Amino acid sequence: MKFNPERYRIADESMKPFIDADEIWDCINNAKPSKERVRDIIAKSLDKQRLNLAEVGTLCAASSPDLIEEIKEGARLLKQRIYGNRIVLFAPLYIGNHCINNCEYCGFRASNSEQVRTTLSDEDLVQQVEALEDNGQKRLILVYGEHPKYYTPEFIAHTTRMVYGVKKGHGEIRRVNINAAPLDIEGFRTVKEAGIGTYQIFQETYHPGAYARYHSAGIKRDYNWRLTALDRAQEAGIDDVGIGALIGLYDWRFEVLGLVRHTNHLEACYNVGPHTISFPRIKDASGLSISQEHFVSDDDMVRLVAILRLAVPYTGMILTAREPAHVRQQVMQFGVSQIDGGTKLEIGAYAEKESEQQDLNREQFKINDDRTLSEVIDDLVTNGYLPSFCTACYRLGRTGEHFMEFSVPGFIKRYCTPNAVLTLTEYLEDYAKPEIKEKGYKLIDKTLSEISDAAEVADIRQRIQRIQQGERDLYF
Ligand code: SAM
Ligand code: SF4
Repeated sequence: MKFNPERYRIADESMKPFIDADEIWDCINNAKPSKERVRDIIAKSLDKQRLNLAEVGTLCAASSPDLIEEIKEGARLLKQRIYGNRIVLFAPLYIGNHCINNCEYCGFRASNSEQVRTTLSDEDLVQQVEALEDNGQKRLILVYGEHPKYYTPEFIAHTTRMVYGVKKGHGEIRRVNINAAPLDIEGFRTVKEAGIGTYQIFQETYHPGAYARYHSAGIKRDYNWRLTALDRAQEAGIDDVGIGALIGLYDWRFEVLGLVRHTNHLEACYNVGPHTISFPRIKDASGLSISQEHFVSDDDMVRLVAILRLAVPYTGMILTAREPAHVRQQVMQFGVSQIDGGTKLEIGAYAEKESEQQDLNREQFKINDDRTLSEVIDDLVTNGYLPSFCTACYRLGRTGEHFMEFSVPGFIKRYCTPNAVLTLTEYLEDYAKPEIKEKGYKLIDKTLSEISDAAEVADIRQRIQRIQQGERDLYF
């Protein structure tokens, strides 16, 4: 059956939009970012309390270099205290680029006749997943354009199940997340049954007027249908949801407050905020010509990440390979906790032979970090970051309201760090080059030496040995 969101938009009228553009602008324009006020706000966040809109507005309004430094320093401290040095790794897998919408910034937009359109067949999909598994990936996000030709909840569920079914050697995908257009409640239910991890939807811009300018055609022109999508996901039982804004469409300070407002809304209604926040910055795309008025500099990008880190201490933050390696390295210090590695956006590219040039007409936008997963892991390990492929919480039902990762004292120590160590061990045994293996085990030794509970260290060491002897998928 064809998916027809038009049918459901009426039924979902009870879900009211919750963004008030004037309220957000008031928070920014009326802010008084004195040194004392900014310091108080940073202290509140370091006390692990989420900030309100007015407080985040004050941080956005603080523009003197010394206050910006204090904000960044606060974020760095918070990141260290809550998340430590763990970085979760994943890869995106594009399933199809047919699209009926005409988002001005996107290479897949319907009016772009240069784009070569493809949808992966089941056979293609298996090849892609095998290639990803051969590199050591365990967590994927599947990405889809929106087109009646293939885009239905049943198709998302089908592709998700297919991905889980592909096993090659020790390779398997243990968590499949989705980035796709909004569904109705019934559609979200269908997708949930396939066992997805997070359902991620970016609002693109939270400003209704700007949204209307960039989305003139297709279903996506309906701002409210998109804004309330993750409410419908929650109603359907999907309690791991991801939000995001495409940075560069409108004033970045407005988007930061929009993301915080969205977070507050989800927490207020469902007792659980978003699992992750993303803030992709617009990159070149095939035939792209949009105004650069709101494009954001590297410095402001770092500022934005630091403010968000302080605003929502308990939410995972993602920065993808849209950004060059040096920007990613910088923002990891200030709050980013998940990155992709070994990313290829051209549809079908993972199974292709070595490095063909990026072809903008086969992808959504240009990526600026084209390092292999092995290179990304080498870089992380060399710089003291602990790569993690952990999928334990979601598989043990520690999701949504139960996902207490950061609010339960000691959660990271008890679960996240040991699981990062165990999944890194698997990677080192199965996929790493000898020099990375050596560096990786040194990092594991260092990590274990920092755990004070001797019994716990012994338990982790025993599991490491079991992995070295051939067992897989051990977790806490
Ligand atoms: N079609 C689905 C939708 O619109 O929700 C999937 C989204 S798209 C395949 C994934 C995301 O990429 C979009 O939500 C948008 O934020 C981002 N994106 C689109 N064009 C981009 C560009 N030129 N540079 C960076 N990110 C872009
Ligand atoms: Fe289509 Fe999504 Fe691209 Fe918009 S962002 S043109 S909906 S793929």
